[in-house]
Amino acid sequence: MWFRQDLRLSDNPALTEACRRCDQVLCLFIDDPQDQTISQVGAASRVWLHHSLAALQISLRNKGSELYFARGASEEILEKLIGQTGAQRVYWNRCYDPLTIDRDRRIKLALRDYQPGTFNALLLQEPWDNLKGDGTAYRVFTPYWRSAVAEFDKDPQLLDTLNTPRHIPPLTRSVGKKLQACVALNELCLLPEFDWHRSMMTHWRCGEVAARAQLERFLKSRVNDYGRGRDLPGQEGTSQLSPHLHFGEISPRHVMNRLLGSRRFDQLSDDELIFAKEIVWREFAYCLLYHFPHSIDEPLDTRFRKFRWARDTDAHLRAWQRGQTGVPIVDAGMRELYATGWMHNRVRMIVASYLIKNLLIPWQSGERWFRDTLVDADLASNSMGWQWTAGSGADASPFFRVFNPVLQGDKFDRQGDYVKRWVPELAGIAERYVHKPWELDAQSRDALDYPSPLVDLKETRLRALKAFSDIKGTNRG
Ligand SMILES: Cc1cc2nc3c(=O)[nH]c(=O)nc-3n(C[C@H](O)[C@H](O)[C@H](O)COP(=O)(O)OP(=O)(O)OC[C@H]3O[C@@H](n4cnc5c(N)ncnc54)[C@H](O)[C@@H]3O)c2cc1C
Repeated sequence: MWFRQDLRLSDNPALTEACRRCDQVLCLFIDDPQDQTISQVGAASRVWLHHSLAALQISLRNKGSELYFARGASEEILEKLIGQTGAQRVYWNRCYDPLTIDRDRRIKLALRDYQPGTFNALLLQEPWDNLKGDGTAYRVFTPYWRSAVAEFDKDPQLLDTLNTPRHIPPLTRSVGKKLQACVALNELCLLPEFDWHRSMMTHWRCGEVAARAQLERFLKSRVNDYGRGRDLPGQEGTSQLSPHLHFGEISPRHVMNRLLGSRRFDQLSDDELIFAKEIVWREFAYCLLYHFPHSIDEPLDTRFRKFRWARDTDAHLRAWQRGQTGVPIVDAGMRELYATGWMHNRVRMIVASYLIKNLLIPWQSGERWFRDTLVDADLASNSMGWQWTAGSGADASPFFRVFNPVLQGDKFDRQGDYVKRWVPELAGIAERYVHKPWELDAQSRDALDYPSPLVDLKETRLRALKAFSDIKGTNRG
């Protein structure tokens, strides 16, 4: 049983099948340098991965089994282990990024004598199961959502989940001894040398048990005010399930199942329905990743290939990354990201809009930084989020809609609680200035240990609109 983006025991179809069919199950994780989805992600995600694997190892040990680790090319490791143990079958759950799909195809072919069994554990629906009437992929969310809901209402069993296997047959001692390709979890070196990650991880509990508890906490109260609360970065209004879902510590089927109970979608409250839609936005992102794999780093709207970005932007990019732009809500978001590995969705949109439209820096630079620093960094959702903000993706916000960070701050962080939490330099200033400290009198401003704005918001907005008008009339891809 080859674990990948499915680091859990419950609702894990590959594991269930392995336990049903085999009298010994080797549970394996491979740290593959070529793996785009799970292993070779950014530093923050690798820290999460370490803790998630440690949690999975404990769950398996509690069941009398063991999690084995290996490092290297997956093809070679699997072949070596099959040779060493005499394994007769191989099981895994599918991933959907282009490099992994190619690699898995090769492995499936090479191991065809071992009857590879592959399953869906990551999504509610496979990306090829929810298509338009003409068989092509949706590029607009609302019809995608309607079609998904119609399917689930028609066949509620699509959302059924599997229990944790009662018995995970361990390897016999003699087989276990033959596993020369395996190493200890620490030898994967997922944790960085410097221990910045310790303070980041005080914000989180990893693993399946923690993920389920997090979901239950959210469903007990927060979901009832989700429509309003999800826009307020100063409050805990969202589920914070994203890293758990990304690493497969919890399945989206389980989340949807617990949300719905025995109800249909049209019986959900407005708040619950908004939450269900967010789970399906994640599905939509995977659908785009699968059908338009180039959208990871190229604009889906090909007019943007000719877009004229600003030049010599290294210093601006660095200031953005470090939360030193002089725009409070942008800096608060970037500092929250660096400290916790997570950022509130509303603020993700604000900082992305600021980078792309005010600093005129290509969205790919922001996407890369997010990939390195988010604990929920996810190829599908991250590229969709960045392309959405840039206006170059599917069902995207139009390019001419430039978020004004001051108005956004006034609206969604009215008292400045969020900004003051992450930008303590501004903790003492009056509410009305917290999102625009540059309007303070000169003496109070000089007393602040906080930078002046990098760029003028109005001028740079006009510059972005001008750059956009240059490509607007060209042909769209
Ligand atoms: C520029 C940008 C980059 C982003 N990068 C990522 C990323 O790398 N990984 C990631 O998981 N999400 C990403 N998102 C989407 C969204 O910001 C996060 O999923 C959300 O903030 C996670 O917090 P939560 O779990 O509390 O979400 P909740 O509001 O509680 O939503 C529940 C779940 O729904 C899914 N979801 C919610 N919003 C979205 C969305 N807009 N797109 C896709 N799925 C969504 C997530 O799995 C989330 O855990 C990005 C958004 C933007 C604008």
